[in-house]
Amino acid sequence: MRILIIGTGGTIASAMTERGYKAQLSIDEILDIAGIKAGSGEIIESLDLLSVDSTLMQPEDWITIGKAVFEAFGEYDGIVITHGTDTLAYTSSALSFIVRNPPIPVVLTGSMLPITEPGSDAPRNLRTAVTFARSGMPGIYVAFMDKIMLGTRVSKVNSLGLNAFQSINYPDVAYVKGEKLVVRQSPELPGGEPSFYPKLNPNVADIRLTPGLSPEAFLALVKAVNGVLIEGYGAGGIPYRGRNLLSAVSGLSKEKPVLMTTQAVYGGVDLTRYEVGRRALEAGVIPTADMTKEAALTKLMWALGHTKNVEKIREIIGKNVAGEISEIRPRAF
Ligand code: ASP
Repeated sequence: MRILIIGTGGTIASAMTERGYKAQLSIDEILDIAGIKAGSGEIIESLDLLSVDSTLMQPEDWITIGKAVFEAFGEYDGIVITHGTDTLAYTSSALSFIVRNPPIPVVLTGSMLPITEPGSDAPRNLRTAVTFARSGMPGIYVAFMDKIMLGTRVSKVNSLGLNAFQSINYPDVAYVKGEKLVVRQSPELPGGEPSFYPKLNPNVADIRLTPGLSPEAFLALVKAVNGVLIEGYGAGGIPYRGRNLLSAVSGLSKEKPVLMTTQAVYGGVDLTRYEVGRRALEAGVIPTADMTKEAALTKLMWALGHTKNVEKIREIIGKNVAGEISEIRPRAF
């Protein structure tokens, strides 16, 4: 069994400096402090790829990480990536589109407290990630607080607490209890040959609807981008009373893809449910169903990396590429 651990920085690799916590530890130093050693007949290798706070992570870095992961497939049985937690859900989602159908487990993890601090969650999260990396279950996952979640389904939900990640609109895949891995739900991934698609267009905007947003302000905000994700309210819809955002969206959606997600944490959007939603559909809005905001945004970048054609992008967004979207949408209950 060969496991590769790729370091990219984050709190897990941080120590205190005069200017606050800064990523600076190598993977070998992290493994040493965490007391993680290769099992018998096992080899653990390390690759220090980046050393950044994940606030600084750029879409080009996702491609660098994706390339390292893709090139490692023939040589390793499992890969762990250590990463800052702040943008980890964007990286795990983007990576799932850039590197499709991985033949081995690829597990991202991080920690809320630096490994150099007493009581850090880093050793525990790393152990969970390494345990899952040994499982042979292909796919891109996030390991945090004993849970294994699908990479396209996670969001950071807590900026301080240790249980910082949740799987949204999808069950946890597995959990670790002591040394034991308990699989709850094998994800239904589309399947196919491993592939690497290194083209993204990061020139997109995520606009949160707020009551009273004018069409003029909205159009000014989205002028410079090639694609838009609107965070609507509840099941989704575009306001048209008083300030007519709908006609602005209707014009815009002919030129660039306009996607809709929800400000609600759970449930996703269903634009067929309300009249405001149906009007949004008629105005050309592309629904993102039960995708996370991170998956929807990175999928939009990835789709725009393929084409600028709005109808083709609509098709790509609606298709399940890496487990990010449920085929059958649950009804309200
Ligand atoms: N600011 C850190 C980062 O995202 C937070 C963390 O890793 O928990 O790199």
